[in-house]
Amino acid sequence: DLSRLEPLDAYRWSLRGEAGRAPVVLFGDRELLTGMDDKVLEQIGNVARLPGLVGAAMTMPDAHWGYGFPIGGVAAFDAEQGGIISAGGVGFDISCGIRCLRTSVTLERLARKMKALADGLFVSIPAGLGREGHLHVDPETLDRILVGGAQWAVEHGYGSGEDLACIEDHGRADGADPAQVSAQAKARQLREMGTLGSGNHYLEVQVVDRVFDASAAAAFGIAEGDVLVSIHCGSRGLGHQIGTDYLVSLAKAAGRLGIALPDRELACAPIASPEGQAYLGAMRAGINCALANRQILAYLTRHTLRHFFPDAELPTLFDVSHNTCKAETHRVDGRERLLYVHRKGATRAFGPGHPALPDRYRPFGQPVIIGGSMGTGSYILAGCAEGEARAFSSASHGAGRQMSRSAALRRWRGRELIDDLAERGILIRTESMRGAAEEAPGAYKDVHRVAEATEGAGLARRVAFLRPKICIKG
Ligand code: 5GP
Ligand code: MN
Ligand code: MN
Repeated sequence: DLSRLEPLDAYRWSLRGEAGRAPVVLFGDRELLTGMDDKVLEQIGNVARLPGLVGAAMTMPDAHWGYGFPIGGVAAFDAEQGGIISAGGVGFDISCGIRCLRTSVTLERLARKMKALADGLFVSIPAGLGREGHLHVDPETLDRILVGGAQWAVEHGYGSGEDLACIEDHGRADGADPAQVSAQAKARQLREMGTLGSGNHYLEVQVVDRVFDASAAAAFGIAEGDVLVSIHCGSRGLGHQIGTDYLVSLAKAAGRLGIALPDRELACAPIASPEGQAYLGAMRAGINCALANRQILAYLTRHTLRHFFPDAELPTLFDVSHNTCKAETHRVDGRERLLYVHRKGATRAFGPGHPALPDRYRPFGQPVIIGGSMGTGSYILAGCAEGEARAFSSASHGAGRQMSRSAALRRWRGRELIDDLAERGILIRTESMRGAAEEAPGAYKDVHRVAEATEGAGLARRVAFLRPKICIKG
């Protein structure tokens, strides 16, 4: 509903009626905002009422409504000013994210093996509800994974130090506390390491279709016609169970401490409270679970690709998480402050020069990976300098839904969609025709518009557009 919004410029809007809450800024062009569910405005308005919020509560151009917080929501809190942490502000699939691998495979060679590779990946990558991983772990090993993240996986033969250099936080979240993760959450994960999961999780073989920024692309190691592999998945059963467990304990804490919740889905506790600290420790364990999971899947991907292309190199371009709360230093009103930045369905997007970036990428900004859909394509962007002041260095994570799963199910048939895509040279492999219909490209916003608006809003600059070739859907 545009009448509730005031344009700040062509890509930034503020929500009217600020009495009793912090400002709300929504990023996106007029058409994206016109199409946005009113529930998004209501939800982000509620977030702006939470204690200790710093700056504005924000939504990215791909935002749609979610549990409590919108997906595509960004909110930063200061622990020293009563700031809170919220499980709904992180999302249930803790540290869901995208690992992007470059490959030395040419499009020509790929074209000759498309079908065989699609079938091979479908066999080797455990996808779909209830598929177990190749790696079953005992509880002691799981605890080490929850502390070590992708570093654990690399130490156990699933990759190299070069991978770690190109993963956020070098593949490991500090401060993880497996003791704060319930036995039930751990039990769910013992047979799920190295699995993709279901729904919109995917492994996609892609080709660089268009380069927007040649020098950033060169630094990221990609050029037009290159073949890439992107893996989208998260912390599986463990992360989901942590979210479920802590909704209860955070809601209790909010009640005990007299925090007025504008919506019970916004269950939260002060970062400094015991419950807040416990969630932080558990959530970081969830992040490490997801980072290890994507590292193992990268290993399986390499193994399978080398079966078809024995000389293939598959270095990591980058690995971003888009469901997290991270302690980061940001400059606010000329002062450095430690903030707890919730990014739910939003990607961190550090600008050029940031010390956390790999040397090769530092002059250009952090790689930002936007999934689009299995039929349209995806984007790689680079964080830019303005993003720091505008959104605590955050950007879009996908095209974002414009239609619910149930509406998509009514509208499309999985089989037909897959056949149509095959005719256009895109091979889909999935066990769930229902899932394929729910994930119909038309159920998502226009990824080109979202990427353009992300750039227009000063959050991240477009570097390359990727076209899908093979998609293994969960
Ligand atoms: P989420 O993390 O919110 O579950 O999903 C992230 C984004 O992934 C969605 O907003 C959507 O744009 C994108 N996406 C979903 N399915 C696919 C797919 O099969 N391929 C690609 N490239 N992107 C997808
Ligand atoms: Mn995701
Ligand atoms: Mn996910």
